[in-house]
Amino acid sequence: MMKLTVIPGDGIGPEIMAQVVRVLKHVHAPFEYEEHQAGEVALNSLGELLPQTTIDSINKTKLAIKGPTTTPVGGGHKSINVTMRQKFDLYANVRPVRSLPGVQCVCSDVDLTIVRENTEDLYAGIERMVDEDTAESIKRITRKGSERIARYAYDLAQKTGKPRMAIVHKANIMKLSDGLFLKVAQEVGWQYPEITTKDVIVDNACMQLVTKPQQFDVIVTENLYGDILSDLCAGLVGGLGVVPGANIGANHAIFEAVHGSAPDIAGQNKANPTALLQSAVMMLQHVGENAKADAIMKALIAALSDVNARTGDLGGKGTTVSFTDAIIQRL
Ligand code: NAD
Repeated sequence: MMKLTVIPGDGIGPEIMAQVVRVLKHVHAPFEYEEHQAGEVALNSLGELLPQTTIDSINKTKLAIKGPTTTPVGGGHKSINVTMRQKFDLYANVRPVRSLPGVQCVCSDVDLTIVRENTEDLYAGIERMVDEDTAESIKRITRKGSERIARYAYDLAQKTGKPRMAIVHKANIMKLSDGLFLKVAQEVGWQYPEITTKDVIVDNACMQLVTKPQQFDVIVTENLYGDILSDLCAGLVGGLGVVPGANIGANHAIFEAVHGSAPDIAGQNKANPTALLQSAVMMLQHVGENAKADAIMKALIAALSDVNARTGDLGGKGTTVSFTDAIIQRL
């Protein structure tokens, strides 16, 4: 058995996490579950956003599944996700975006993966007020950060048999920072001659993704562009409820959906657990439990095809709990 840190989060987090753990237990996934808190729930109950007990647990288990956590806009505390990614040096944010059978979407044949650098860029939070009318954010890109994310992306493309890599940047304007990212990623690409590399300026990438997403297999990009592109891509395949994610470092991995805490539907049994469940599938693959991962995916796809089962965000009649019941019935 492996120890797994479970962080329910807030908003819709606890509702969808409970259902995902139900599915994992149903397939006898080899985990011993340790529940810990982070974010607003932790602040309210334990007086800290990221309690030491949560950090200790992840340091011990090296594996976590996390529900979304709310981040105040414009002020208040720093994003707990950003803090965790930096603390555990989870440098690769992997977001597979796939059209799923039964899910109404703009494009029915999307199958791409966004590999987003997860520790640098404007997300590093190097900000200051220059004077009371002027604010400044520093965008920091390093050779080390660019090289390891590019290598991760090319290795992933090689391992999964994906022949096309797109490096997304804005080096025509940010000639030094994005220029460094592009140059280093291209240098890494030369070591993978079987993979065809193109570079795409981020605004053009948005247009290309909306008009012809099938041209992309793997996209490697900087932190902020990766964040924005993954929501855009989620929109192509049925919305935020269906896109999973993984934060991977050299020693730790934390799996979480792309979506946030969805306060507008929290506590209403409406949230779609698909994205978090697919994140759990990625986690099972990460630990080599491929048969269990495949079984869950098969049951999930079957349940998604049933309008009475799937949740309202996908035009279905199901709730968070009844949809999970439908998945479990198909396992
Ligand atoms: P959001 O992803 O929470 O919600 C955007 C829209 O998508 C809402 O209408 C919501 O109802 C819908 N939605 C999201 N997930 C859904 C699901 N599983 N099922 C059905 N519908 C779903 O984005 P937001 O409103 O911009 O952010 C809310 C909060 O979440 C913010 O505080 C933000 O900082 C935080 N956030 C956290 C994470 C994370 O913890 N990883 C990621 C993104 C945003």
